[in-house]
Amino acid sequence: MSMSWQGWYYLAPLLVVLLFYLRRHRERESHARIKLEETQKSNIPEPLTLHPVIDPNKCLGSGACVRACPERSLGIVKGKAMLVAPDHCIGHGACASACPFEAVSLVFGTEKRGIDIPQVKPTFETNVPGIFIAGELGGMGLIRKGVDQGQRAIQTIAKKKGKDGQLDVVIVGAGPAGFSASLAAKEAGLRFVTLEQEDGMGGSVYHYPRRKLAMTAPMQLPIVGKFNRHEISKEELLEFWNKTIKKTGLKIHFSERMDSLQRISGGFIVKTPKTEYKAANVLLAIGRRGTPRKLGVPGEEQPKVVYRLIDAEQYRGQHVLVVGGGDSAAEAALSIAAERGTTVTVSCRGDEIFTRPKDKNRQLLKQGVEKQKITVYVNANVKEIGTDTATIVHDGKDIVLKNDAVIVCAGGTLPTPMLKEIGVLVDTYYGQALPT
Ligand SMILES: Cc1cc2nc3c(=O)[nH]c(=O)nc-3n(C[C@H](O)[C@H](O)[C@H](O)COP(=O)(O)OP(=O)(O)OC[C@H]3O[C@@H](n4cnc5c(N)ncnc54)[C@H](O)[C@@H]3O)c2cc1C
Repeated sequence: MSMSWQGWYYLAPLLVVLLFYLRRHRERESHARIKLEETQKSNIPEPLTLHPVIDPNKCLGSGACVRACPERSLGIVKGKAMLVAPDHCIGHGACASACPFEAVSLVFGTEKRGIDIPQVKPTFETNVPGIFIAGELGGMGLIRKGVDQGQRAIQTIAKKKGKDGQLDVVIVGAGPAGFSASLAAKEAGLRFVTLEQEDGMGGSVYHYPRRKLAMTAPMQLPIVGKFNRHEISKEELLEFWNKTIKKTGLKIHFSERMDSLQRISGGFIVKTPKTEYKAANVLLAIGRRGTPRKLGVPGEEQPKVVYRLIDAEQYRGQHVLVVGGGDSAAEAALSIAAERGTTVTVSCRGDEIFTRPKDKNRQLLKQGVEKQKITVYVNANVKEIGTDTATIVHDGKDIVLKNDAVIVCAGGTLPTPMLKEIGVLVDTYYGQALPT
């Protein structure tokens, strides 16, 4: 039976919409497949914090989780949701709430890579009385969670004040958790110091890529009140925090790292390179990025030596040495080499700079070397850093390079051994959820 022209008149728009939908669906699937292949080829590791695991038997490929993920880390491949860009996942957990079929669970670690999470009570105190943990170190990432936990930890600490000659608390770290804890400590009139190893405010936020949009939720900050934003650029957020510090007179000891934490009768001693503090309580709000590994060479203390690239533009026209062999080193070298007038040299202890980084970074690095935009010394070690030179040892010979800046990307030392040393119980998670 043939359809009348009126039938076609009504059906045609539906067919157009359907074709359009199918085309978009196919494009998205192929995009997700490419992302997944890139991830597998490049050995991109599993996320360091909370991340989703999707049960393929329950997933019907609705794509609700894909749309809900603010970091675009999920995709539909062969009709099922998958974590196609694990390095983008930061544990928002929006995927799990969005799935209509309860196919998404949120877990820590994977079978291959365990994640250490310290045991923390609902008061944020650990099994060691007086040692508190807030923020990402306790397992839960996200700005708003850190802000919430930091101030709640202080509520308990305020009931356990120190004796004479002792601080009530040393707050270690000035990321979202340490910042809100410091405001809460000030509001509660506690005797406290806040230590931050970096020279600026913000913790992980300080290191987000330029103009990254931070997704968050309205939150309550001590002294300041309600912070009512869902989306804010990294720069705006840092500006807000810095203005708050000025307005409230909050004192943060920047560039002062906690080197060690020792238990003594009735409290703790926190040692830094500058001094030591006696305190009844210590709040560790140190996140999970660890302390950057140093080179331990003469001249490293100069301000031109940094441990992470923040802004490539600032190196325009300069001679820069990048030290390291992973993605951070490759990305730092590539972005600085793209700036006008730069001379970029990479010094790598083995030859991993050509094997370890993501496929895309490896290819770009090779091209950079071929085009003589980047010079790479493999099996090389930095010997010393002068005011306008840097000396590396390669093939047993000293090579003296002109140098204005050094970016050291040699990884970090994680806090787990320090936690275990002071007796904090730590569990290793291999793809399980935190007990509720
Ligand atoms: C690329 C990226 C994008 C992200 N995007 C978002 C987002 O959009 N929304 C969101 O909510 N979350 C996001 N997150 C996660 C969020 O930034 C973190 O969960 C949050 O910053 C954790 O806060 P924190 O205070 O626990 O730790 P951190 O922010 O890591 O701060 C810890 C601080 O402690 C300091 N420290 C460490 N050791 C010592 C020591 N020994 N002595 C002194 N100081 C020390 C560190 O220097 C650091 O400043 C993102 C994370 C990354 C990496």
